[in-house]
Amino acid sequence: MTKLIKLDKDNNIKVTKKLEEYLNPDYVYIPLPPKKEDLKKEKIIKKGSLFYHDTFSPISGKLIKLEDCLLPDGENVKCLVLENDFQEKTEINLAVRKRINNLEKEVLIDSIYKNYLKEKLAKPNIKTLVISGIDDEPYIENETFIGQNKTKQIVETLDALLNLYPNSKAYIALKNTNSEVILALSNLLGTYKNMEIKLVDDLFLIGKEPFLIKYLHIKNDYIFLTLSEVYELYMNIKKRKHVLEKYITISGNGVKEPLIIKTKLGMKVIDIFKRYFLEDLTNCSLYVNGIMQGRQLDINKLIVTKDLDGIIIMKKQKRNIKKCIKCGKCINICPIHSNPLMAYKLGMKVKCINCGLCTYICPSFIPLQKYLSGDKHE
Ligand code: SF4
Ligand code: SF4
Repeated sequence: MTKLIKLDKDNNIKVTKKLEEYLNPDYVYIPLPPKKEDLKKEKIIKKGSLFYHDTFSPISGKLIKLEDCLLPDGENVKCLVLENDFQEKTEINLAVRKRINNLEKEVLIDSIYKNYLKEKLAKPNIKTLVISGIDDEPYIENETFIGQNKTKQIVETLDALLNLYPNSKAYIALKNTNSEVILALSNLLGTYKNMEIKLVDDLFLIGKEPFLIKYLHIKNDYIFLTLSEVYELYMNIKKRKHVLEKYITISGNGVKEPLIIKTKLGMKVIDIFKRYFLEDLTNCSLYVNGIMQGRQLDINKLIVTKDLDGIIIMKKQKRNIKKCIKCGKCINICPIHSNPLMAYKLGMKVKCINCGLCTYICPSFIPLQKYLSGDKHE
């Protein structure tokens, strides 16, 4: 099995418990699928109405224009700009379900809005639900936050899901360092014999599906979900609502007060910064989605999507990039047994999950991640 490692973290960087809500933006930006540029200007949109595949309107308002925006993976995208009318008029208004642990599989799956979640839960012969409550990226705390604050909702949803699959069990994986979430969940799980907390070591990437499944020795058919996804299922099945918001962490040694912020999907990140982070960031590097797996992007055009987990703001460090000393550490550490040197030295495109470990370990401070798509350096 791949040997995962524990990352060195800066203990001076505060872990945040503070939540802010910013749910009334003036505008939201809806990414258009490729080759689709239809703007029905002035069209009135209701909250929760479907735009495209799995994309629902986070607010009610009026379409006013198209604009170029940036996604957290660095892709440029055309967006529909929706002006908020602050009416919160909704497309559908279904009554909350009193009980959800008695639902037929078809009814339960029919309540789910996202197709990929429907497909996951429609699988037959499931024996195990593997739930990851792990934030892999240093200083990002979203899963921890959900685990601590939505405990009852998580347990109620898992109970309903387990009823769909006879003789199944749910394992909730938590880092053994995450005492508050462990305590919050243990207090509730006593009466649920088919749910169990699995404590895992504080290793980088352990929260990702392939590594967690191996670590837990899961052999039979399973469904993998994160705590955020379980909470989304709760909102769909019990509350009969879309999840149109996103928790994001803003943290790092470049900010005085780290925060978790509940935002609307489609908001501009710069609007969040203008409200909460007024410090001068010119001597900082901003890492979208973390210092390991994230990337440095211009946040002026960046929008909040379900794939944005946070922004880590770090004071710029002066590091002199030196020559490769052929130590081989970057190859040895790669969790998928790839060879980043083939990309760096020969310009070959190599298999990569963009975990950042090769860059992290390199004693010559070579930013190997930059070359993994096949840009030759030497
Ligand atoms: S970033 Fe890619 S090449 Fe580097 S260690 Fe991770 S998977 Fe391997
Ligand atoms: S870790 Fe850095 S110095 Fe060592 S072989 Fe890889 S690129 Fe070269």
